[in-house]
Amino acid sequence: MAVDITTDLNKVRNIGIMAHIDAGKTTTTERILFYTGVSYKIGEVHDGAAVMDWMEQEQERGITITSAATTCWWKEHQINIIDTPGHVDFTAEVERSLRVLDGAVAVFDGVAGVEPQTMTVWRQANKYSVPRMCFVNKLDRTGADFFRCVQMMVERLNSTPLVLQLPIGAEHDFLGVVDLVGMRALTWRGETKMGEDYDVEEIPESLRAQADEYREKLLETLAEADDDIMEKYLEGEELSVQEIEDAIRRATLADKLNPVLCGTAFKNKGVQPLLDAVVKYLPSPLDIDAIVGHKVNDEETKIERKPSDDQPFSGLAYKIASDPHLGKLIYVRVYSGKLEAGATVLNSVTGRKERIGKVYQMHANKREEIASVGAGQIVAVMGLKDTKTGHTLCDTNNPVVLESMSFPAPVIEVA
Ligand code: GDP
Repeated sequence: MAVDITTDLNKVRNIGIMAHIDAGKTTTTERILFYTGVSYKIGEVHDGAAVMDWMEQEQERGITITSAATTCWWKEHQINIIDTPGHVDFTAEVERSLRVLDGAVAVFDGVAGVEPQTMTVWRQANKYSVPRMCFVNKLDRTGADFFRCVQMMVERLNSTPLVLQLPIGAEHDFLGVVDLVGMRALTWRGETKMGEDYDVEEIPESLRAQADEYREKLLETLAEADDDIMEKYLEGEELSVQEIEDAIRRATLADKLNPVLCGTAFKNKGVQPLLDAVVKYLPSPLDIDAIVGHKVNDEETKIERKPSDDQPFSGLAYKIASDPHLGKLIYVRVYSGKLEAGATVLNSVTGRKERIGKVYQMHANKREEIASVGAGQIVAVMGLKDTKTGHTLCDTNNPVVLESMSFPAPVIEVA
């Protein structure tokens, strides 16, 4: 049965995962989908399936992350993972999807560090001030060097990395991470299960001095980015975990720095803390400025649309995909109002009315048909005939163009 999806927007994260090819974007996404499970939404943790079983099942069905937006749940938060193609050839498409997502996780290969495609996508994300976190992956590989990778973030990306974790062990003996905010060790020793399954331990004696040093660096960097923390830091006040986390969130949303985490998606170490950080530090649709479009045929007259169900409907078609079971699907981000299955909407770019067919929210292992969906959400829509990537769909009585389409000027031949 089709359901209405109106979630507390504070608990929605629309994120993209960006990486140079082979850095581990697919593996990290698959791990995220595994850990979040389907039932985690209601607090129920599956502990039956081992990672490989689940992955094999998913691969057979071929729908793991072929979807342009996959929804999963972590600790009562809805995370929509938006697929941003990593290949340079798709630069334009990457740019477009950056407008659709609110925050991003950049995945790095711990051996190769910062690679060219990441530099390209990073620059595009800079253009739109997309809040970003970094995940240094593949720390189990020979030659992996977390600190070198962080240094490359400064040199090649010109970013301000905020190191939140330190690796414990290296290569084959990579065990887990030191959490510099909570000053504790998170380790993975056994088989990994869905949900939150790391062990919390004391920071190993051998890493104590390094942890203290990096904790100090963390506070210093944070103080430079945040006045509240600066004041307390200068006074020598003790900061609570909550205060530090709040400041990290503020500074990340303001695009002043990038929290850095690490692990290995391959061996399932580090992905759950990454999910925690996505929920804690990346923006909800409410943290993003209201979108400003313009009147049809009048780019000068601006129209603002807020992410609220009370506003007239507006949405952006950002990707057309072909689903093996459903045929042509158009992925739409709803910026304001509600999108309803069966409703007639206006495509303000073609000037034609379109009927919305079925509407789906795509999950890792199922798709959910929904009757209506609110602002801030991302869904796949069937039945649209003339809508293309970049077109705005909106309420027929309240037209708006969200993104100007620049076509080459038509050539008029005079006989
Ligand atoms: P993508 O191109 O960024 O999507 O990269 P993939 O996720 O397909 O990973 C590329 C290759 O690296 C695959 O063979 C993965 O199995 C492997 N890989 C991914 N993450 C890790 C990791 O943390 N450690 C190791 N050793 N290999 C990994």
